[in-house]
Amino acid sequence: MTKTVPTLTLNDGHTIPQLGFGVFKVDPDETMRIVTDALEVGYRHIDTAAIYGNEVGVGDSIARSGIDREDLFITTKLWNDRQGTESVFDAFDESLEKLGLEYVDLYLIHWPTPAQDKYVESWKALEKIRETGRARSIGVSNFLEPHLQRLLAETDVVPAVDQIELHPAHQQPATTAFARRHGIQIEAWGPLGQGKYPLLDEHVVAIAAEAHRKTPAQVIIRWHLQTGNIVFPKSTRRERMIENFDVFDFELTRSEMSAITSLERVGRVGAHPNEVN
Ligand code: NAD
Repeated sequence: MTKTVPTLTLNDGHTIPQLGFGVFKVDPDETMRIVTDALEVGYRHIDTAAIYGNEVGVGDSIARSGIDREDLFITTKLWNDRQGTESVFDAFDESLEKLGLEYVDLYLIHWPTPAQDKYVESWKALEKIRETGRARSIGVSNFLEPHLQRLLAETDVVPAVDQIELHPAHQQPATTAFARRHGIQIEAWGPLGQGKYPLLDEHVVAIAAEAHRKTPAQVIIRWHLQTGNIVFPKSTRRERMIENFDVFDFELTRSEMSAITSLERVGRVGAHPNEVN
């Protein structure tokens, strides 16, 4: 099995491993063990957030791993109740402190929370943080096309990424097309449908899995990679971490790709970004 994770180049020139490991709903008490497992398996890109409550565990496992900081790519996110200006600087300092890091590779606004109407102001604070080098890249999460349009019109830095719910049953074509046109990389959260949407049971997925002697999860992850998405599936089980990382020794054919793409049906499993406030 090759373990070479491809990297994508962001619009600010930094590179990001296309496959990483997410820690949403990973119990803070178990985070150290789980992220240590993920690092041992080979993951070098970890996606956390202040609201996940597990930045300390992520930081501890990084510190104990002995892996060169430059070989890791760490993302965290600003929670909704800290949007603004000074509150963003404070929240960012707290996240860095919890992670025990001098910089993060990527800092994101977690949700636009349009009812608060503070995401433009918050983004300007992220621009300032980026200038200090303590966040190498900055981006957004759960921003739909209108939110992105406003940022592009009213601020200076184009987000490096937009992290949105995206899987074959919910592909968000308008947002992804707009983002790609403006050089914003797409990060797909809930890449496996969070286990809520029965993606892994879809017939076309099973057929491709059988053809390549792979599992349905591996086929879906491969679909993301070949689509150009950045992806960080979550699993607390080491055998699944290994499985989800073992996706670089096969390639889906054009017809397998389009059969999976045709599973689109607005199968959103998370909240609508306009309704999270
Ligand atoms: P996911 O689609 O990665 O699904 C995770 C679930 O899929 C697991 O709990 C497990 O039940 C199942 N699973 C994992 N590997 C499997 C395998 N090989 N075979 C069968 N089932 C398997 O969903 P997620 O964790 O919500 O998303 C991934 C990451 O995205 C998160 O951990 C987090 O970092 C990020 N995320 C971000 C946001 C956001 O608002 N920005 C929201 C949710 C998640």
